[in-house]
Amino acid sequence: MRGAVLHAPGDVRVEDRADPAIVEPTDAVIRLSATCVCGSDLWSYRGIQEVDGPSPMGHEYVGVVEDVGDEVTTVRPGQFVIGSFFASDNTCEICRAGYQTSCVQRQGIGALGAQAQRLRVPLADGTLVATPDVPPDDLVPSLLAASDVLGTGWFGAVAAEVGPGKTVAVVGDGAVGLLGVLAAKQLGAERIIAMSRHEPRQELALEYGATDIVTERGDEGVAKIKELTGGLGAHSVIEAVGTQESMMQAIRSTRPGGHVGYVGVSHDVALPGDELFFSHVHLHGGPAPVRRFLPELVDLIWNRTVDPGKVFDLTLPLDDAAEGYRAMDERRAIKTLLQP
Ligand SMILES: [Zn+2]
Repeated sequence: MRGAVLHAPGDVRVEDRADPAIVEPTDAVIRLSATCVCGSDLWSYRGIQEVDGPSPMGHEYVGVVEDVGDEVTTVRPGQFVIGSFFASDNTCEICRAGYQTSCVQRQGIGALGAQAQRLRVPLADGTLVATPDVPPDDLVPSLLAASDVLGTGWFGAVAAEVGPGKTVAVVGDGAVGLLGVLAAKQLGAERIIAMSRHEPRQELALEYGATDIVTERGDEGVAKIKELTGGLGAHSVIEAVGTQESMMQAIRSTRPGGHVGYVGVSHDVALPGDELFFSHVHLHGGPAPVRRFLPELVDLIWNRTVDPGKVFDLTLPLDDAAEGYRAMDERRAIKTLLQP
């Protein structure tokens, strides 16, 4: 089969990889209907995260089950399924508490390489959620978004305790930030302030429910949020970048007693203890337990209540993955969908 492999920073190639097969009796093998490039793939693409030899890429996937191991009972060949970027048993204490990305048996999908024609999914019963039927083509991008970016934005909103009557600020205008706006709207936020300086992204944020746009960043962005909230700061702030600047922008934009939901993969962030101490801000985040939200998100998409697939503003054949990475790296595209 064909699959994307990162050889060195900036060097993604689509090449022949071994076809996956059932290894464990709890595995499934799926034929991918669509896959995509994640903002977090750019950390290694840019060399910020070390590239350790040729690595299969991709951790977002939807597709049709081709084969299952002997112990798999909840999904069967022919079903259309979605899973998240960590396989999880969905039965351990941590999973049952809603933190499937910290499952005691978790296995990263990234190492298996979902930017490919086929994928082996471990712990299939716990990991995969089947849709009611094989979806029409136009729903596939939205279902793919649920595999990571929608679920991650949703967790950011839940972790930030978004709810009715709240003012929410969103730091980051990538796919996760934009879908954090969508999540905040669905969760009943009264006011949603999207922080973005890119016009096409501002437009999508407004379409997803943003009520205000702030183009300033850093301390100026914080001052603007304070100005819009009577000097207090937002109740809930979703942090969807993962840098020192974005994290401090999020914490400083939050009012005392408020909540930050941080879902941007953290890179070299160091938080000043004294400032945290006096901020009275709650921090919660981490790798989003997308699996917790998948049944609800699939339902919202299936009923066409939400259209998260609009974050894919570039669609390419899998073989052109290199251009998909370049377009996102140069911010010409919000998110690239790859057709295997
Ligand atoms: Zn578990």
